[in-house]
Amino acid sequence: MPEKIPKFPSKFFRQAKHLSFQEISFEIAKKFFFGDIPQNDLEEITHGAVNFDAPLKPLAGNIDVLELFHGPTLAFKDFAAGFMARLMAYFVKDSDKELTVLTATSGDTGSAVAHGFFKAPGIRVIILYPSKKVSEMQEKMLATMGENITALEIQGTFDDCQRLVKQAFADKDLKQKLFLTSANSINIIRLIPQIFYYIYAFARLDNYSPSCKREAGRDFMPLIFSVPSGNFGNLTAGLLAKRMGLPVFKFIAATNINDVVPRYLENGIYLPHPAQKTLSNAMDVGDPSNFARMLELYDNDVRIMKKDIIGMRCADEETVSAIKDVYRKYNYILDPHGAVGYFALKKYLDCWRKAAPRAIRARGIFLETAHQAKFADTVEDALKIKILIPKRLSAYLDKEKKAVLLPADFAALKEFLTPLHSA
Ligand SMILES: *Cc1c(COP(=O)(O)O)cnc(C)c1O
Repeated sequence: MPEKIPKFPSKFFRQAKHLSFQEISFEIAKKFFFGDIPQNDLEEITHGAVNFDAPLKPLAGNIDVLELFHGPTLAFKDFAAGFMARLMAYFVKDSDKELTVLTATSGDTGSAVAHGFFKAPGIRVIILYPSKKVSEMQEKMLATMGENITALEIQGTFDDCQRLVKQAFADKDLKQKLFLTSANSINIIRLIPQIFYYIYAFARLDNYSPSCKREAGRDFMPLIFSVPSGNFGNLTAGLLAKRMGLPVFKFIAATNINDVVPRYLENGIYLPHPAQKTLSNAMDVGDPSNFARMLELYDNDVRIMKKDIIGMRCADEETVSAIKDVYRKYNYILDPHGAVGYFALKKYLDCWRKAAPRAIRARGIFLETAHQAKFADTVEDALKIKILIPKRLSAYLDKEKKAVLLPADFAALKEFLTPLHSA
């Protein structure tokens, strides 16, 4: 966690609508890195990383969708990867030692990291992924880049990959020989660029919707963010945005049936379990790594946490009906992760309306974390339509795989990382 969470005066949020996405992001980055990086360099890093939009689109009356899939690998993880790569390259530029970034992936993180760090000077990236357990598209996106990106195809599971990475960080010998770091969300830098789009979404909120103008006279319009969650990095970034002063009424921690956090919010007991497979598979996490940060933010007290966060779970059948509903009613195609976010938000807003029909209308935003084409099979099954695959996605299928096959064995990884001739 950052030692101190910086705060903006409320005036900043009132005036944010006059700023661009890049300008808002730079203001936030300055708060965190002031004194560590000269302004010009930080501006270049931030503007370079925020090079695609995160549009907020009206869906229904009081529901908007924040589209986070306009980056190179069509998932929200692109925001963090691009920023981390530039920041790390900046910090190692005067070092004579090459930085080695080790990352375990079950698919999506690996592709975002491979793209974000491609050709980053002074950095080599090693991505460990489980052999035959990622989709063909995911494999092509993470294992065809070459240059400074090496994909290690591990003959084991994702848990084996994660264990090997942890072993590497704990190994004294490797630590001495290599300059090692991680690009998984145990690294706090990954969360900072995710704060950017919460504040940007807020800034865009008033600009387009006529229904919003009607309500503008009221001084209280509760804003709710629904965040489809697995490791809870995205949600934690939202909580940090709120601590910085963003006026958010509630966050919804929306999960699939891997619901350890919603359960914790219900009964105050945290019970990790092995992940179960679902349609929203990027959220199949049984022991989320950012839960410790959530606890820290709320002094380990579930009663305080419950004031800000509502837990909701969504079963696969509900995910499919959400995809169908939204397509039928609004002609909008959700991916299974965004569908979990929508489902939870809709349920919450329906309860809200029933409880207080004439009271103030709440305003809800859900995060759409991936492009529907990345999960075309599920969406095609639900909607009985053909999903158009964008060119930049299908182009990967023609590329040649360049992975190195390794057993799930630490000695083999170590030998790969520090070949004898370099010793
Ligand atoms: C990683 C991922 C998530 C989960 O995000 P967390 O920050 O781990 O909670 C949700 N949707 C998609 C598409 C993802 O790739």
